[in-house]
Amino acid sequence: EAKREGKDRYRVFDFGMSRTAHDRLRLENDLRRAVGRDELRLYYQPVVRLGDGRVVAFEALLRWEHPRRGILLPDRFVPLAEETGMIVGIGRRVLELACSRAAGWRRQEPSLAVSVNISARQLVRPDFVEEVGRILQRTGLEPEGLVLEVTESAAMDEPGEAARALQRLRERGVRLALDDFGTGYSSLSYLRRLPVCFLKIDRSFVEGLGGDSGSGVLVGGVIALSRELGFEPVAEGIETPGQLERLLELGCELGQGYYFASPMPEGAAGELVRSGARLGAGSTLLAARRR
Ligand code: C2E
Ligand code: MG
Ligand code: MG
Ligand code: MG
Repeated sequence: EAKREGKDRYRVFDFGMSRTAHDRLRLENDLRRAVGRDELRLYYQPVVRLGDGRVVAFEALLRWEHPRRGILLPDRFVPLAEETGMIVGIGRRVLELACSRAAGWRRQEPSLAVSVNISARQLVRPDFVEEVGRILQRTGLEPEGLVLEVTESAAMDEPGEAARALQRLRERGVRLALDDFGTGYSSLSYLRRLPVCFLKIDRSFVEGLGGDSGSGVLVGGVIALSRELGFEPVAEGIETPGQLERLLELGCELGQGYYFASPMPEGAAGELVRSGARLGAGSTLLAARRR
């Protein structure tokens, strides 16, 4: 009996393994062709001023319109792209698309920025800073129209290299955001030296807000720390009016989340810009608070 069970288990395990390896290889081959076939798309999620719902930026989020699998989210293929180095070419394309779109939006709303996620693999390449410069020039986007988002862990990967690249980007006028803050282990003395403008508070902290858990204290601490370091806090993953209310009370002025808007195709983002770049939710809540 035990032997039988063991045998079955082995078979299931083996099947699982080969499927995974096979799937991975296939995904890798598909991804190599995806760029040339124009299957990669950017969706854009508004980053808003929490007090009045004004859109201050759009975060570009990568989607893969796979011919058989449908729309794939980044966690399905970005890690693979990073491991294989394909993220360098993909990331360049992402920057070009996002900068070119933002240059157009800014003709309508000159204060809008686009926020682009960058992998450690891109950041530490010796030619990355020049590449960003070339893309800005080609697309006609002013440097202050671009925010580059680097996760806390990417900034820590090769701290010296990363810090130098970030410094040079900042000198060119590009703004920087530290993404998913609170999930890594950066030392405060290292963070203090980074020329970062925004600190994005990870969704896992915002999640508990509005309930009666202790995360109000935690988020309040992160906001205070952010200001202490000279970074503007941005809350990620705001889904409920309760969370928004608490963030406003805690003095957080910027954020994004499904409560305001989900990531949207570029056409819808363009519509939003043309109609005045403002989302209703924040202003309604603010009006209610004043009563
Ligand atoms: P991120 O930069 O932290 O992006 C925020 C993620 O939270 C996005 O997931 C967004 O769709 C999701 N989100 C936004 N508001 C809410 C909300 O209210 N509730 C919940 N549950 N989720 C919300 P997405 O688009 O799946 O992207 C996941 C991650 O993939 C991003 O996390 C970023 O690290 C990475 N990524 C996305 N695009 C790129 C890219 O072009 N290059 C690189 N290197 N990484 C990218
Ligand atoms: Mg991000
Ligand atoms: Mg984030
Ligand atoms: Mg996050």
